[in-house]
Amino acid sequence: MMKVGIIGAGLGGLSAAILLAHSGFEVHIYEKNTYPGGKMRRYSLGSSQFDFGPNTITMPSVFQEVIAQTGAVPDDYFQFTRLEVHTRNHFADGSYFDLSSDQTFNKEQLSNFDPFAYKKFEGYIKEITRLYTLSEQHFFRKTFMKKQDFLSLNLLKALVKVRPLQTLHQFNQQYFEDTRLLQMVNRYATYVGSSPYETPATFAMIAYLEMIQGVYYVNGGNPTIADGFAKRATELGVQIHYGVEVTKISVESRKARQIYLSNGEAKKFDTVIINGDLLKVYPDLVESRDRPSFQTKHVESYQPTMSAFVLLASLNKRVEGLKHHQVFFSSDYYKEFQELFQKKQFPSDPTIYICNSSYTEKAMSPNGDNLMILINAPATTIESTDQLVEQKQKIYHTLSLKGFPVQKHVVEDMIISPRNISHQFHSFNGALYGPSANRVKDAFFRPSNKAKDINNLYFVGGSTHPGGGSPMVTMSGMNVANHIIQSK
Ligand SMILES: Cc1cc2nc3c(=O)[nH]c(=O)nc-3n(C[C@H](O)[C@H](O)[C@H](O)COP(=O)(O)OP(=O)(O)OC[C@H]3O[C@@H](n4cnc5c(N)ncnc54)[C@H](O)[C@@H]3O)c2cc1C
Repeated sequence: MMKVGIIGAGLGGLSAAILLAHSGFEVHIYEKNTYPGGKMRRYSLGSSQFDFGPNTITMPSVFQEVIAQTGAVPDDYFQFTRLEVHTRNHFADGSYFDLSSDQTFNKEQLSNFDPFAYKKFEGYIKEITRLYTLSEQHFFRKTFMKKQDFLSLNLLKALVKVRPLQTLHQFNQQYFEDTRLLQMVNRYATYVGSSPYETPATFAMIAYLEMIQGVYYVNGGNPTIADGFAKRATELGVQIHYGVEVTKISVESRKARQIYLSNGEAKKFDTVIINGDLLKVYPDLVESRDRPSFQTKHVESYQPTMSAFVLLASLNKRVEGLKHHQVFFSSDYYKEFQELFQKKQFPSDPTIYICNSSYTEKAMSPNGDNLMILINAPATTIESTDQLVEQKQKIYHTLSLKGFPVQKHVVEDMIISPRNISHQFHSFNGALYGPSANRVKDAFFRPSNKAKDINNLYFVGGSTHPGGGSPMVTMSGMNVANHIIQSK
């Protein structure tokens, strides 16, 4: 039986493991943390439970497909609830827009904000649908293993059609004149950890996911998806070794020979898959001489995605007006991204996102709201305690100014910083999704799913193809598994 070793039990590693085990491979996953799901994880504080990582779930069919492909019933592992009016967007002037997957509802609100956008809305929906359809057809389900995969004629033809040279901001300006609405639709760049003023217009397809396909929540918290994946993997015979870190991959004649574990053991596999962040884990585990095509200068040539500053707050009250998802926008979005990417500093006036899942499922926090508060942060692990405390106070102060004085109801809170993210998941400088999509080259030509110098080493997860975000990462695992199964 062919043996596959997977480094990391994130969604990418788990989805690959499930399909491989179902096809008869012996699969072992080594995960340095003690739970499945990587960045998709739970935190508990007081009587509140929090989802870290994916709060906004889109494309539920991708997660269901992993389970269904093995002949099991997805609903037996996780169930999705659709959030019709999904995100309240608060703007600096005190107004707000409730985004929904009901276009009539969206359009009604547009008429109060922006007559131009009201007129253009059907055209916008048509164009984001086209961008999504093309991306689905040509990019999502393909593995990118070798040069020819990147240069295929069909792919290049598709690439020209997805507006690669226009920025997301420029694209959105064609449909929205009101600066508040522009902020709202520009924010989709942050779903791939990038800046709307640089990232290609192609990523307007994320608006399609939210506005047309819808936003979902998983009963019991979104990490139930990871639990369900781990359960199905185990049923199929995958051995998941928690609390075991891989410390080295030895290479002989361009093949990964053995992987070395933190418990002192060494294991041989026919194929190895790295699910951890390629920019960090690959150079950490493989000697530089064995990866001539991926030297430090190559790592440094990538601009990492943003990181996040997260504040978990367990409250003793349900605060009036807080929904499941809400965003409090800064007054100058352009400046915010300049600070994040050019100056590599925390934004002076950050946009604040809050997930309050107990709005939908009270059991997540029976005694009050469970606020997972996130601001965009630069990808750097250089930070001080003073700086973190300052960010926390700034968040509470800003929310109070906006009419949500939550701090006085906090029972317990906790900060998760870019440095924590970097340490916990071995992510490059705390970046959430590996290379950013700010440059056309990195948006479309992400690091390949296969090591150029090592014939049996593959990559899955947010830093490789097709990209960041939980459905994409899951697809990367499926794509690589299918490739390995077909090459058997
Ligand atoms: C704060 C935050 C908010 C987010 N919001 C959303 C959202 O709303 N919607 C959405 O879809 N996505 C969101 N994401 C992104 C989403 O969480 C990720 O894209 C996805 O979960 C990443 O999965 P992955 O498989 O690439 O890797 P990870 O989840 O990073 O898994 C990799 C695993 O590899 C392990 N590992 C690394 N090195 C080693 C080693 N040497 N030995 C053993 N194990 C190792 C790590 O411990 C980790 O568990 C968010 C992420 C964060 C952090």
